[in-house]
Amino acid sequence: MGRQPHVLVLPFPGQGHIAPILKLALRIAAHGVKLTFVNTEFIHAKMMASLPEKSEERRLINFVSVPDGLDTEDDRRDLIKLTESVHRTMPAQIRDLIMKIEESNSDERISCVVADTSVGWAHEMAKNFGIEAVAFWTSAGACLALSLHIPLLLEAGVFDNNGTFIIDEPISLSKDLPSWTSSDFESDPEVQKLVFEFCLFVSKYAKFYDRIICNSNYELESVALQLIPNILPIGPLTISSNHSSSFTGILLPQDETCLHWLEKQPPSSVIYVAFGSTATLSLQQAEELALGLELSGQPFLWVVQSDSVARFPEGFVERVANRAKFVEWAPQEKVLAHPSVACFMSHCGWNSTLEGLGVPFLCLPYFADQFYNKKYICDVWKVGLELEEDENGIKTRHEISSKIKLLLSSDVIKANALHMKEACRKSWDEDGDSFSNLKKFIEHVKSL
Ligand code: UDP
Repeated sequence: MGRQPHVLVLPFPGQGHIAPILKLALRIAAHGVKLTFVNTEFIHAKMMASLPEKSEERRLINFVSVPDGLDTEDDRRDLIKLTESVHRTMPAQIRDLIMKIEESNSDERISCVVADTSVGWAHEMAKNFGIEAVAFWTSAGACLALSLHIPLLLEAGVFDNNGTFIIDEPISLSKDLPSWTSSDFESDPEVQKLVFEFCLFVSKYAKFYDRIICNSNYELESVALQLIPNILPIGPLTISSNHSSSFTGILLPQDETCLHWLEKQPPSSVIYVAFGSTATLSLQQAEELALGLELSGQPFLWVVQSDSVARFPEGFVERVANRAKFVEWAPQEKVLAHPSVACFMSHCGWNSTLEGLGVPFLCLPYFADQFYNKKYICDVWKVGLELEEDENGIKTRHEISSKIKLLLSSDVIKANALHMKEACRKSWDEDGDSFSNLKKFIEHVKSL
C-alpha cells in the first residue's frame, strides 16, 4: 500500500492566527485527509478544554503540542517575547516531530506542511525534507502584497532600515488599489520597527512557499490578490462558511449571556463594540467612548474588561444600565449574526472585518494592518465610517455619537454591507471561488 497523504498544520500561537487556520484544517480533515495540528502546550491545554473528548474535531484531527519556550507565568500577550521564544525553541521540536511521524510507521509521512507565515522557518524546513510547503496568511491579501514588496521598497529608499516611512508620496502597488500613506504606518517608531521586521521576515521566507493560502477572496480584493504569485484565496473562513464544525477556534471563555440580552433588544438597534484580543484603549479614549455611546441613545454591547468598567466616568454604568451590556469576551460570530445588532464598532482586525461583513462598521483601527483594513471597509467596500481624531488624537464623544447616528441612518451603507456578505457567502457555493479553490487544494494534497 502507498503512503497516505498527511498534512501537518502549524499556526502561530495567537488567537487571531489560530481560529482561521483551524477552520481550514477542519475543512481539509473533513475530506478524509490525515491531519496533525501542532499547538504550543499553552494553547493546546485551552483548546482541549474547549473540545469534548468525543467531539467531531478531535475525531477528525490529531492534536499535538510542543513547548513555546516560555515559563508558565510568562505573559503570552507580550508579542515580542512570544515571537522570540517561538523562533528560538520551536524549529527543533517541529523537526523532531516530522521525523518521529516518519519513523513511527512506514506508511506515514508528512506530505504537506501548512504553516502560518509568522513561522516561515517551517516552510524552509519542509522544503529541506522534500515536503510541500504551504503558507497561511491571516490578514488581507493587500498587506501580503505590501510585505512581499518590502525589500524592493527598502532598496528604493521608501523606508529606512528601521522601517520608518521616509518619502512624501504614497506607496501604490496598483492604480486600482488604495495606496499606503504615512498614516497607514505606526506613529511609534518601536512598533513600526516590529511591524516592518515582520514584513521582512515574510518576504525572506517567501521563496520557500509552494503556494500561499489566504483568508480572503476575489470579491473582497481582486486587485491585491492578483499581485501575489501562487496565491490561493480560501475565505472568508468564518463559522457560517464552515460546514464541518461549529467550533470557532476561540479559546477564551465566551459569555453567552449577551445572546439572551440581544434577544430582548429591538431589531437593528444595538451597537456592538469589540476591539479583538490585543488592542487596548487609553483611559481617556475609553471614557470618551463611554460618553459617546451614552450620548447616542442606542443600546450597546461592549466587550471590555471588568476592571475597565470600574474606571468609567462616575454614574455612567448606572445611567446606561437599562440599555447596556458589558462582557469580558463575547461569542463574536454569533453576536454579529444576531438581528438586533445594528453596527460593529471595531478595531478592524482582519478576522473581525470578515466576521462583521453584513453589518455596518464604525472603525477605530489601532495597530499594524488595521489601518489598511479600515480603507477597505470605508473607501473600497463602503460598508462603514471612520471615527476621526481631534487635534489631541482623541475620538471625542460628539464624534462618536454623531457618526453612530450617521451610520445608522445610511441605507446605502446597509445595502453595501448586505451585498458584500452575500458575495462572500456565494464564494462558498459549489461554483464559488473559495469552494473551488479549497477543493482544488484538497485534491492536490491527496495526490502528493
Ligand atoms: N473575538 C471573540 N470575542 C470577542 C472579541 C473577539 O470571539 O469578544 C474573536 C473574533 O471573533 C476574532 C478574534 O477574536 O475571530 C479577533 O481577531 P482579529 O483578527 O479581529 O483581531 P486580533 O485579536 O488579532 O487583534
